[in-house]
Amino acid sequence: MSAKDGYQIRYSNRAKRVRLVVSADKVEIVAPPGVPEGQLHAFAAEKKDWISATLKKVQYKTQAVKPLAPERYEEGCLIPFKGDFYPLHIQTQERIRQAILTFKPEQGFTLNIRAQDQYSDTIRLIVRQWMFQQAAEETDRYIQHYAPKRQLWPQQVRIKQQKARWGSCSAKNNLNINGLLIMTPPQVMAYVVVHELCHIRHKNHSAAFWQLVAEHIPDYQECRHWLKQHGQRVMCGF
Ligand SMILES: [Zn+2]
Repeated sequence: MSAKDGYQIRYSNRAKRVRLVVSADKVEIVAPPGVPEGQLHAFAAEKKDWISATLKKVQYKTQAVKPLAPERYEEGCLIPFKGDFYPLHIQTQERIRQAILTFKPEQGFTLNIRAQDQYSDTIRLIVRQWMFQQAAEETDRYIQHYAPKRQLWPQQVRIKQQKARWGSCSAKNNLNINGLLIMTPPQVMAYVVVHELCHIRHKNHSAAFWQLVAEHIPDYQECRHWLKQHGQRVMCGF
C-alpha cells in the first residue's frame, strides 16, 4: 500500500518522533515503535505533494542517463559513429560560405567553419544533419542487401528521430528508421532495418517472425541485447 504511493514505512527504536527520511532512491517515514500505521499513512497523506516531488527528484538523479553524444561540441570532443567514437577537429576559415563536415576513419571528423559560427549548438546541428544523411544512406544499403532474399520491399522509407522506438513498419509497409541508430555498431542498425523489413511479411512478433529475422541475421539476439544495454544513451540524441 505504502510502496504504491512511493514511500516506505520503517520503525526504529532510535526514532524519537515521526519523520521523513530521503535517501538515494526512496522516501521513508521513520517512526518510533508503537505508532499505529494508520497514523503514519495520514502523516504521509499530509505531506503527499512534498513526497512525490522529492521522489521524482531522487529517481531522476539515480536514473539519469549519460548520452553517448558529447555534452559540448568543441575541439577534441568524441562523437559516436557506427559503434565507435571519433574526435572532432575544428578548422576555422573566413572564406567559407557554409560549414563543411568531413569524416575519415583514421582521423575522425574535421569541421571547416567560420570562427564566429563555432558554437556548440551550431556544430551539433551540423553533425546531426550529417549523421541523418549517413543513416539514410546506410538504411538504403541494408534494404538493397537484405530485401531481395525474401522479397521484403518497403513502400517508402523515412529516417526520423523517434523518442522511444528504433523503427516501425506501417500497415502499408512504410518504414520509419530512427536516424540515431547511426551511433550503434553497423550490425545493430542492420538488425533494426531487417526487423522492420520482416514486419512486411509478419505484422507481429510471432515465432515465425523471429525465424524470418534469424534467417537474415543469425546473431540478432546480440543486437537486441546491445540495444537494451546502450539504447537509452543513444536515444538521448546528438
Ligand atoms: Zn517489431
